[in-house]
Amino acid sequence: MERNNNATAPAVPTNGKNEKIFRGVAAAPGISFGLAYVYNQREVVVRRTNIASEDIEDELRIYRQALERSEQELQKIYTLAKEKLGETLAEIFQGHLMMLNDPVLKEAIENRVRDKLNNVEYAVASEFEKYAGQLRDNANDFMYERIQDLEDVKNRLLRNLQRRRLTGTIEGGRIIFSRRLTPADTVLFSRYNVLGYVTETGGMTSHAAIISRSLNIPAVVAVQGILNEVHDGDLVIIDGYKGLVYLNPSESHLAECRKKIAEIENVTRKLEALRDLRCETTDGRVIELAANAEFVEELEYIQQQGADGIGLYRTEHLYLLREEFPSEEEQFLVYHEIAENMYPRPVIFRVFDIGGDKVLDSSAREGNPFMGWRGIRLLLDQPDIFRAQLRAILRASQGGNVKIMFPMISGLVVLKAAIDFLDGVKDELRREGVPFDEEIKVGAMIEVPSAVLVADILAREVDFFSIGTNDLIQYLLAVDRGNELISELYQEFHPAVLHAIRMVIESAHRNDIWVGLCGEMAGNPYATPLLLGMGIDEFSVIPSVLPEIKHIVRSFSFEEAKALAQRALASKTHEEVKDWIIPLMHERFPEFFTTTLT
Ligand code: PEP
Ligand code: MG
Repeated sequence: MERNNNATAPAVPTNGKNEKIFRGVAAAPGISFGLAYVYNQREVVVRRTNIASEDIEDELRIYRQALERSEQELQKIYTLAKEKLGETLAEIFQGHLMMLNDPVLKEAIENRVRDKLNNVEYAVASEFEKYAGQLRDNANDFMYERIQDLEDVKNRLLRNLQRRRLTGTIEGGRIIFSRRLTPADTVLFSRYNVLGYVTETGGMTSHAAIISRSLNIPAVVAVQGILNEVHDGDLVIIDGYKGLVYLNPSESHLAECRKKIAEIENVTRKLEALRDLRCETTDGRVIELAANAEFVEELEYIQQQGADGIGLYRTEHLYLLREEFPSEEEQFLVYHEIAENMYPRPVIFRVFDIGGDKVLDSSAREGNPFMGWRGIRLLLDQPDIFRAQLRAILRASQGGNVKIMFPMISGLVVLKAAIDFLDGVKDELRREGVPFDEEIKVGAMIEVPSAVLVADILAREVDFFSIGTNDLIQYLLAVDRGNELISELYQEFHPAVLHAIRMVIESAHRNDIWVGLCGEMAGNPYATPLLLGMGIDEFSVIPSVLPEIKHIVRSFSFEEAKALAQRALASKTHEEVKDWIIPLMHERFPEFFTTTLT
């Protein structure tokens, strides 16, 4: 995978409109320019067009695919609702399924496309409306609810129809504008070679932002009001370092943008020389510098960047992409490929961390999902899913370079339950004579504040810790990681965060286990000397920043880093730390910070 910018893209003429500049939160680095594509996933706007008779079959095929997808979604929601809410409430979704598959309605829609040559969105909207009209004529309370259900089913079907069509309409070189993007949207669009994402909502560590960074696609989030101004086809520049969006940019800004893209390529080339060097301080302390990964497609790029291993493989993307849990066999094939590809370097598979913002369907959402049925909590409640995943990981561990990690550990009981479950699965494999690595190492993510406070107790049960600052910061500071309204309060250098990290490192070392950090903070170059000086043993970062982090580590002595860490730990606020660390880093590494946001 290459760094995603478009230095070589053809010149695009400006359109004579006035330039407008918007500021948001820089969510994924990189600069690019291209034409806007406005993705409106909330309101379903139905346009009426007439199709040609030779397109009827294509149109009906799109309809059937959307129907199938809607059915799968509803089945999934129904199953989940039955478990969580009970049969009676879950029946709502059975009702939705029946409406979706109502033979009279289906036939009417198909006939409309065939006979009236209506586009299928319009046919669906009209026939559903007709049906709702009949119900309205017989209005009573029960009917009102049915009308609402009908509306939900119609919108689901329309969304799927438009999503299906969308992938066919995005030509390369577009920058996606949307109110919000789900992790699944982000992945879906990336397959169409998009050049950037701009959203009105979201924060730096929302999973959609993390995915953009993994995919090397610049992103700016929390750009208020942009959707009122931007139109499909407008020329835009996005600066994912500074969090800026230039709508209808001036010639001079376009020229500056091209120059910056060339500069970034230059720095990237220089850093390539570091690929085979160790991540080691000037006085010989060696740090494991691993990459975070979510897709098999990233492996080549991760190796090119010189990663010592994979410090966090977010397995839940297997689920998010397919919208259902993959079978043990499917998972085994993926895990095996990754372990083999990276061999002999280690790969840490984090078991499914579903929940929080990593759910697909809003109908299945909890009131407070980040504090809800998420990560290890969900898996312990779903033994079949957990078992299949652990079996697949264990089977892929034969080479000896695989490790397992549990997310959302909040205390000893949960951790022990997960380990006991793993032991049970190991026994099962032994009984079946299926080989796996008997020495496989197991780690806990430290991302819930309670785990920080009981880290000494947890450390006795596992082989390593990995600090998940993305969640730890949101829980510690009570700042939703995806909420743009309070993104200023999401502070990596807050003394509570720095002291929590130091406590975890000390607990780990007191108990003779190693400790890494795999949250986005590991890839923040301003934080590198501080974390290094606190004694972190491993960084796991997004692959694109790996050479930069290595360069920084190689420029400090451990002694100097320790002094900076002490200074940070003695600072009273996030702002105070930034006030001295940013100028210090800029002075020391002038060329690497020319484009980054301060
Ligand atoms: C974290 O919380 O820091 C982390 C690495 O996990 P995720 O971002 O997937 O929640
Ligand atoms: Mg997390």
